[in-house]
Amino acid sequence: MTFVVTIDGPSGAGKSSVAKALAKTLGIRWLDTGALYRAVAYTLDKRGIARTDGKGTADAMAALSVRIDSEGVFVDGEDVTKAIRTPHVDRIVSAWAALGAVRNGLLSVQRSQARYGSLVAEGRDMGSVVFPDAAVRFFLTASPEARAMRRYKELLERGESLDYEDVLSRMRDRDRADSSRDLAPLTEPEGAIRVDTSSMGQQEVVDELVRIVRSETAGCSS
Ligand code: C5P
Repeated sequence: MTFVVTIDGPSGAGKSSVAKALAKTLGIRWLDTGALYRAVAYTLDKRGIARTDGKGTADAMAALSVRIDSEGVFVDGEDVTKAIRTPHVDRIVSAWAALGAVRNGLLSVQRSQARYGSLVAEGRDMGSVVFPDAAVRFFLTASPEARAMRRYKELLERGESLDYEDVLSRMRDRDRADSSRDLAPLTEPEGAIRVDTSSMGQQEVVDELVRIVRSETAGCSS
């Protein structure tokens, strides 16, 4: 039997790198659902659709083809993998992600990924909404300062020149928007395993998660 592992948590908790390394160690696929929301936000914004235009958004979502695989993220065939990792997309993505048309449109894209085998699915509502029956559900968190510092270093490495305080304030804004929205807000799913990564190294977190998943899924196949 195949299985799904979910990892939810706020931005900068280390979800992506941990989810990716966990999937690699277990020899299963990794699904970065934040990339799907970023791809939709980037595309609708670029097409000049107003977020307040409910019909325009719903029509665009119905016609949009979003695909994610090990090569990257594609919208209507366009490779948007790099374009979705900018401060501009950081700023606009949460507002788009709060819309029902966007969330519903991406639900089937996400669930369909579990058909191809075992999966580590990472996002904000994986254990609560998308895969509530997952074999193991994690909630990764860290202090806002630790998360902002990680994000700041990541952006610096990518050549973006930014102020740490700006990154921290944008992160707090995004946390607030993601936690307070009506639809599928970022919450710690009941029964999820909470891991605070503030003072843990990445490998330490990965080792801990691998140990838990192996013991919980003994007997399952990938
Ligand atoms: O994980 P990442 O920071 O790339 O996610 C970008 C944004 O996408 C989040 O801030 C959130 O607004 C949205 N998101 C979501 N539900 C998910 C994954 C991401 O609403 N499952």
